[in-house]
Amino acid sequence: MLKLVNISKSYTIGDFNQNALDNLSVEFKSKDFVAILGPSGCGKTTLLNVIGGLDHADKGDLLINGRSTKDFKDGDWDMYRNNSIGFIFQSHNLITHLSVLQNVEMGLSLSGVSKAERTQRATEVLERVGLKDHIHKRPNQLSGGQSQRVAIARALANNPEIILADEPTGSLDSETSVQIMELIKEIAKEKLVILVTHDSELAKNYASRLIRLKDGQITSDSKPEEAGAKNGGIKFKKTAMSFKTAFISSLNNIRTKLGRTILTALAGSIGIIGIALILSLSNGLDQQISNFEQDTLSGYPISITESKLDFEKMMNYSQEDLVSYPETDSAIIFDESQLTSFLQPNTITDDYIQYVEDYVAGDGQTTLAGVKYQYYTNMSLLKYFEISDTAGAYMPIYQESTDSEDSSSSPYATAMNLFTLLPDGTVFDKNYDLIYGNLPINDLANGQVQVVLVVDEYNRIFKSTLEALGFDTTDITQVNFNDIVGTELKLYIGTYDVLTSDVNDAMTVTISGIIRQKESSNVSLLYNGLGYTSDVTSYISENYPDEVGAIKSIQLYPNDFDSKELVKAHLDAYNTDLPESAKVEYIDQAATITAMVGGVIDTISIVLIAFTAVSLVVSSIMISIITYVSVIERTKEIGVLRALGARKKDISRIFNVENIIIGFGAGFTGILVSALLLIPINLIIEHFANMANVASLNPLAAIILILISVFLAVVAGLLPARMAAKKDPVVALRTE
Ligand code: ADP
Ligand code: MG
Repeated sequence: MLKLVNISKSYTIGDFNQNALDNLSVEFKSKDFVAILGPSGCGKTTLLNVIGGLDHADKGDLLINGRSTKDFKDGDWDMYRNNSIGFIFQSHNLITHLSVLQNVEMGLSLSGVSKAERTQRATEVLERVGLKDHIHKRPNQLSGGQSQRVAIARALANNPEIILADEPTGSLDSETSVQIMELIKEIAKEKLVILVTHDSELAKNYASRLIRLKDGQITSDSKPEEAGAKNGGIKFKKTAMSFKTAFISSLNNIRTKLGRTILTALAGSIGIIGIALILSLSNGLDQQISNFEQDTLSGYPISITESKLDFEKMMNYSQEDLVSYPETDSAIIFDESQLTSFLQPNTITDDYIQYVEDYVAGDGQTTLAGVKYQYYTNMSLLKYFEISDTAGAYMPIYQESTDSEDSSSSPYATAMNLFTLLPDGTVFDKNYDLIYGNLPINDLANGQVQVVLVVDEYNRIFKSTLEALGFDTTDITQVNFNDIVGTELKLYIGTYDVLTSDVNDAMTVTISGIIRQKESSNVSLLYNGLGYTSDVTSYISENYPDEVGAIKSIQLYPNDFDSKELVKAHLDAYNTDLPESAKVEYIDQAATITAMVGGVIDTISIVLIAFTAVSLVVSSIMISIITYVSVIERTKEIGVLRALGARKKDISRIFNVENIIIGFGAGFTGILVSALLLIPINLIIEHFANMANVASLNPLAAIILILISVFLAVVAGLLPARMAAKKDPVVALRTE
């Protein structure tokens, strides 16, 4: 069934050419026990390897059932080895990290036999070689004879037609050798056994045909076979290692070097931990910032008001001898005459209003969440001044007119508005503290209005404001809040005339409390006077429409920071080419700092991730080295697997799967450790920054990081795995 025709095989080392097989021809029939005898180095192993398709001749042909193998491809040889050949080696060559049963099953796995059948067939052959009770042991728990029996069982498992045994008793004592030979003889009843040995005694006793070899040539043949092979041809079953087999093999191998694998995975996980933590933190901070931005924007509009502040002058102006945010219940009188220079008129012209309205109707549809207009109203705030003990009169302390030219607050006017609209909702809550009394509650239908007095961070109040409220400020520097709260005024809607207007038509205004800008407020909503709530404005426009006139101020609420920049750019465009005096300025009340902080955090994250990525590279290199070491260590195993019919692909698959496991382990550990680390990190952040659960790892990011880890591990191991696959099985088997 096998025919070797003029086979030559030589090895070249340097200039020296060693003939291992020299123009050798021989034929074998099926169901025979052939012993090949010869001194060491005569080419016995080479001959077996050529017969078994592990090695290929330089010249000549091997015919299997009359079919030439000259056109055989790698895959054909793999199938031939797996289907037709069973190798038994002198040094057993069992895979140490697999159990006895798994060793025997390996060849069957390669040809895709189902798990159940595999186990059944493997158990059967193990029973046959007398190892029924040892199937779950590891190879290192067996004696030499038992190991050789396992090797025989493995060779038999796939039920091949040819068994090639290379000095199977070489390392056994004589008693055990006899047992093994008996077993092989038994096998030879139904298979072709070609057995290499240098023990001619043993060979004579058991083999039915003896071939002597010397210097790669046959010197004698006891029963030359020339009957002519049956030209039956060959049919092979394809071999392929399933992913599952590769996985189990890798998992077992990993188990035997658990310590090293865990260390590798831990090293690999460091980079993942770093990136996961940075991502969590920057993700959390970005989230915080964007929340803050949204909060801020919903509260702080871009406002265009009737006066513009010179912020630079404001910033440079401070009073160092005063305590900020005092806890006293009194106001410090402040002569504001020096302050007037901080303010300049900001004339909102009809032209400008048109410009804004056009924008609101156009691009503003996408950039603005809302627009508010405030209108000039004919109204006067009146205070009763005693002229004598018995006589007195209501005098206007603040007057506003629809004809803006007419607006004045004489006779006690300040350049600042004495009587202003308070901001609504969030802006109010975020920027002001009630430090005395109550917040305003209006009963407009019954003509009752409540207002609050605003003081600055030092509890200062304008001298003129106090005087307008009827205080004599000549000899005092402080006023108790108690004296201010409760002060009554009148609000007359319409144009007030001291002589003809009836004060009884006016609403009663009571100061209900004192408010102060918050320490945390970073916005200069500068008032120093009385503030009324927006329902007063609505009430007036509903009930006295004739007294409401031109736009006094505009508030634009952008959708987000990007929109805000667009709105501002549009407003800036209006001022281009206008003289300084005609320019209309807006105040961006939201702190621009927040937008900057977001950018800074992104930049820092990128830099940190870049640094951490270096550790990923390092761990990749480590995995590469580990795989390389593993390939070196498992060279013998690679040879055995190839002898059993594993394809090159199967070999690289084993290592790739191993790296997938390591990469997954590293990624998973990294994510797990990060998740655990985030708990104390968040506690620390909460302790110092008072923000709960800032750092959070996005599940998608976690999955992606694990995938990256797996990917890097596989890529890192690709080269060593390829190296393993390319190993010459003959060389691999010869390594010790
Ligand atoms: P045997 O099994 O009979 O002891 P081998 O078949 O192993 O002999 O070797 C036959 C000859 O080929 C020996 O001289 C050996 O040194 C040489 N040989 C075998 N394999 C190699 C190799 N990979 N490289 C170089 N020489 C080799
Ligand atoms: Mg040999």
